[in-house]
Amino acid sequence: MTTHIAHQQYRSIFENAVEGIFLTTPDGRYLDVNPALATIYGFASPGDLIAHFRDIKQQLYVEPERRDQFVRLLERDDKVVGFESQVRKKNGEIIWITENARAVYGSNGAIAYYEGTVMDITARKNAETDLEVQRAYFSQLFANSPQAIVIIDTRRNVVNCNRGFEHLFGYRAIDIVGFGMRALIVPEELQTECEQLRNAILEGATVQCETLRRHRDGTLIPVDMIGFPIWVGPAINGIIYIYQDISERKSFEQQITHQAFHDALTGLPNRTLFAERLERALERSRRRPELFFAVLMIDLNKFKAVNDTLGHSTGDQLLIEVARRLSLCVRAVDTVARLGGDEFAIILEEFPSKKELLKAARRMHSILCEPFCLCGNELLPGASIGIVPKIADYTSADDVLRDADIAMYRAKQGGKGMVLFDKRMHRELIESINLEAELREVLAKDGLTLHYQPIVTVADEQLEGFEALVRWDHPLRGMIPPDRFIPLAEETGLIVDLGKWVIGEACRKLKSWQENLASAHHLTMSVNVSIRQFGKPGLVEHIAEVLRQQQLNPACLKIEVTESVLMHDVGRTVTELNRLRALGVQIAIDDFGTGYSSLSYLRRMPIDHLKIDRSFISGFDDPEENDQIVRSIISLARSLGLGVVAEGVENRSQLERLRALNCDKAQGFMFSRPVDENKAMELIGKFSQL
Ligand SMILES: [Mg+2]
Repeated sequence: MTTHIAHQQYRSIFENAVEGIFLTTPDGRYLDVNPALATIYGFASPGDLIAHFRDIKQQLYVEPERRDQFVRLLERDDKVVGFESQVRKKNGEIIWITENARAVYGSNGAIAYYEGTVMDITARKNAETDLEVQRAYFSQLFANSPQAIVIIDTRRNVVNCNRGFEHLFGYRAIDIVGFGMRALIVPEELQTECEQLRNAILEGATVQCETLRRHRDGTLIPVDMIGFPIWVGPAINGIIYIYQDISERKSFEQQITHQAFHDALTGLPNRTLFAERLERALERSRRRPELFFAVLMIDLNKFKAVNDTLGHSTGDQLLIEVARRLSLCVRAVDTVARLGGDEFAIILEEFPSKKELLKAARRMHSILCEPFCLCGNELLPGASIGIVPKIADYTSADDVLRDADIAMYRAKQGGKGMVLFDKRMHRELIESINLEAELREVLAKDGLTLHYQPIVTVADEQLEGFEALVRWDHPLRGMIPPDRFIPLAEETGLIVDLGKWVIGEACRKLKSWQENLASAHHLTMSVNVSIRQFGKPGLVEHIAEVLRQQQLNPACLKIEVTESVLMHDVGRTVTELNRLRALGVQIAIDDFGTGYSSLSYLRRMPIDHLKIDRSFISGFDDPEENDQIVRSIISLARSLGLGVVAEGVENRSQLERLRALNCDKAQGFMFSRPVDENKAMELIGKFSQL
């Protein structure tokens, strides 16, 4: 090969190479470059490139010191290999290049020029950076994640775990890397589940589940776990498990569930849970029809009075104590629930006989009738229990509850303590609904009448006045006793209209007697006002209107209210009673001694008389004890400057005792039963002749 041909071949490689080729002087100018280098650096031709660069160090390199390093390497080693730098293209764009170069010496022994090649490695560099970023992302995420992360190889050994894992399970990475960890953190009973999950992951699945894992100290931790395969190319080379501690959420969920099904005050099951348990008890009872499955509905008799007089916190204490007592006398299979207010219900299961069942129910009633000592008060709220003794006869829980409720109301109304439901009660309930309609009608038609019971002075047995008592003479049913229709009127609110009618009629009658009978001008009329009437606005206005219409001396009208009226909404009661007294009307407390009125309480009330409840006069309790009570009521009345009327006086010896105790007035069968208008007028005449 001649030199000429060799030169031509070299030139051809130079012109056509993919790599950039250059010849530069040690002081930083280009002697020659090939078209590829011009392209790499963004020039139209080698000539353009050569003309552009006066100082390679400053113009080409992003960091000019790279050129100094390049030169130093060439001076030391005569060559550089794989020298990577960032350079600026003609348009300012920065790219990565790698250079190979050698020093070419002249005949004088000095470096004549450098020759070398340039490759654009920007793409590779970017890929490397990307990879580095990815690695940083992963390693920092892994290290700093609050979640517990562990990497397992396909032979079940730990490859790495993060701080979150160390923290959650109490093992250090250095203790477990290279070893299996399943025996450490997976509870025995979950080993199979864990193996199944692993198999699924190794088949390519991502699994997620809520499960339990064990801390080094043995504590079980509820976790949300995600497991997925680590793919390297087409193969799985390990598994990543991520655990999230969900203890807090779990306990919150449990708390919420508990709250949804339990009463916050007593901790007992609530109505919802009770209904669910009752459904299940119904199913069980049908399978064991020979046994007694019963539902008891329990209501305290004087809960409202306790709340009203002693405050809600005492009321709450009472409910808690009731819940505790009831819970103590049932078995584990039974359910005690609080349905709301002071209403409790119990499911008693699998009693062999009705007798046994009733024994259990009676025990419950008697423990509720024992005194409750709360906040320094001894309370006897009493309880009424309605019982459905055999729920197997029912198809729905609602029906059981309805009937237990009917029986409970019956117990409460009759003051009977405990009542077993029977089918008759249904009929009676329907009857009372009919009765309500009829009462509405008779009231509208002015079809009720008043009877009058005399009130007599104890000292000289003179007629002082009458208590007006409403009567319903039904055309078909005959005389309907007030204890049948008054509670009904109370429940339905009819009592308000009924009460207004009574006041109007009583005042009208008294006025006519006063006008027509010589000995009647001083007589008084006592009228009962119920708590429902008292609660409605307009009562005082109505009484004022009646007094004005009848031109009746207001002092002749006495309004009787029960202790429960006093205890309800005290502030308003005092205002209303004061307004009544401002009219000149007198106020008496009826059935006194059966409620919870305290001395301090009575002192605040604008009242004129106490009517001692009949149970203390002619009741069956110990006469000695009753005498004591009557004596203390009278002395209480004296100290407050109130008059005293004894109710239920049946015989002369009772009257004599009252006289000895200095009681003012008396009322009872001894003098007369309640009588109609004509008989009342006769009585007025008779008393005047005494
Ligand atoms: Mg009365």
